[in-house]
Amino acid sequence: MARPPEFSFRTRRTNLERLANEAFDLLIIGGGITGAGIARDATLRGLNVALVERRDYAVGTSSRSSKMIHGGLRYLQQGDVGLVMEAANERRVLRRLAPHLARPIKVVVPVHGRSGYAKIRAGLWTFDRMARVLKDERNQMLGPDETLALVPNLRRETVYGAGVYYECLTDDARLVMANLRSAAALGAVAVNYAKVTGFLSEGGRLTAGVVHDTVSGSAFPVRAKVIVNAAGPWVDAVRALQGAEEQAKLHLTKGIHLVVPAERLPVSHIVIMTAGDKRSVFAVPHGEVVYLGTTDTDYEGRYDDPPVLIEDAQYLLDAANEYFDVDPLTLHDVVGAWAGLRPLLHQEGKKAAEISRKDEILIGPSGLISIAGGKLTTYRRMAERIVTVVVARLQEAGVAAPQKRGDSDQDTLCGGDIDEDVDQFTAEIKQRWSRVPEDIVDRLVRLHGGDGERMIEAMAADPTLARRCAPGSPVTLGEVRYAVREEMVLTLEDYLERRGRLLLWDVQNGLSVAQEVAQIIGEMLGWDRKRIDSEVAGYRRHVEDVKAFCPPIEATPQRVANA
Ligand code: FAD
Repeated sequence: MARPPEFSFRTRRTNLERLANEAFDLLIIGGGITGAGIARDATLRGLNVALVERRDYAVGTSSRSSKMIHGGLRYLQQGDVGLVMEAANERRVLRRLAPHLARPIKVVVPVHGRSGYAKIRAGLWTFDRMARVLKDERNQMLGPDETLALVPNLRRETVYGAGVYYECLTDDARLVMANLRSAAALGAVAVNYAKVTGFLSEGGRLTAGVVHDTVSGSAFPVRAKVIVNAAGPWVDAVRALQGAEEQAKLHLTKGIHLVVPAERLPVSHIVIMTAGDKRSVFAVPHGEVVYLGTTDTDYEGRYDDPPVLIEDAQYLLDAANEYFDVDPLTLHDVVGAWAGLRPLLHQEGKKAAEISRKDEILIGPSGLISIAGGKLTTYRRMAERIVTVVVARLQEAGVAAPQKRGDSDQDTLCGGDIDEDVDQFTAEIKQRWSRVPEDIVDRLVRLHGGDGERMIEAMAADPTLARRCAPGSPVTLGEVRYAVREEMVLTLEDYLERRGRLLLWDVQNGLSVAQEVAQIIGEMLGWDRKRIDSEVAGYRRHVEDVKAFCPPIEATPQRVANA
């Protein structure tokens, strides 16, 4: 596994020059998991690759998913055996390539009666065999007492038993970063805050994407033999830039998640609940918080930062209140939230939940290759399929077959050079670097895997790097500097939302460290006092926007209901 020497604002500057001056085999539009996965696969196959992202990497759906690497059980319910096998295989691959980004967790499915119990048992039995589930992760069926021992806060009177199986949790935005940095290490040229606003063509074939650098305001063509549109919810908008009349292909559906403090809903495993409309929703433990998800509703509205609506939030809270014997959760308990858009392929007459999650490759008349649909779980296979199409195109154009540099299912991702048992690895690091506080070690390994260990080693040698950004916070000077130097952070929001993930997982949404983090980023990027203050004010407004559906603390429940 190669590591890029630097992936920073300086790299970005150099990369912009390269975009303007070089000709690439492949230009990828979109820095979500699809684009990042394609960039890695293509560089491993020896292609000369450029990737541009209109805002920050992973700013779209790829930081707003439910963060599960599915074993494929849900596809079994839909009768899609091919997808079950693919998801199960991809989960095994990711656990090998980046164990910190695919951490196994028990899933408990409480059932209320005999028929539900039998149905779950049959489904899990079939799944274990079909997906070749590891021996110690095979399903279990539990009686009521065993179920309550695992999830003590369930409403006792409704529990008949439970099925138990395993999923893996990931961190979607960090998975994107691991893929991008791995691609960059092999020579891919990636730039964030660079939007494709048009195309150039010759003889009806695309020859360049016109890229607008939204930081400097400059625009220039980026020449490439093949262009891939991996723009997620924006796939149709990018297809429309080709000029020719293109029929819309996407059907966007929205899913929301709510974050509540763990003390309000103490669970140690994922718990699956059946909501009022019979859909499955879930509660997932994550350190000091638990998140609830998700919804699946047709969406029309803004694509950037889609809003969380009160009725969707209430739907999830109602499901949790139905299952758990805790003081009823209200909107006042919600400390964070996010909404994402599923870029699904339109299927005539189908409702949101019925549309297939399969990916499809669309090839436009001018040669633009677009990819739509798909899942985080299967991103590597999707990337493999797309790059195979790209390579075939290049060969048709007479380009000699490039020299392969590795395999996407073998080469470890950046930070993935650690033992598959992440807890064991973390314990060893704590012992080895006992001068670094344990909460900081936990955080760095969770976010960065093996790269976290290198940061910890640097902190042990220079304790000033372990300086906390606020009393009691595990966010340190060293981590923030690393994000600017190695993860191309350009704004305070880039760090607090997508690199450090404080917007989601910190009960204060990162506001307690915002000023100090802005100061550190500012010192590295040359911000003056005015810029630092405006970054902090902008982030504060962003947090307010994200939680706009939440009642103000002093509001009464009556006012909420009428809001
Ligand atoms: P995106 O992440 O949206 O990336 C597209 C990028 O293109 C964006 O960053 C955008 O800014 C950029 N872009 C757009 N236009 C341009 C332009 N003109 N120039 C340059 N850049 C541009 N999958 C799972 O496997 N497990 C889950 O648990 C799971 N949960 C989900 C829950 C929800 C609520 C949702 C909505 C999805 C979930 N998914 C899950 C699916 C998964 O998140 C998506 O399939 C995946 O993130 C899509 O990634 P993408 O890269 O295609 O799109």
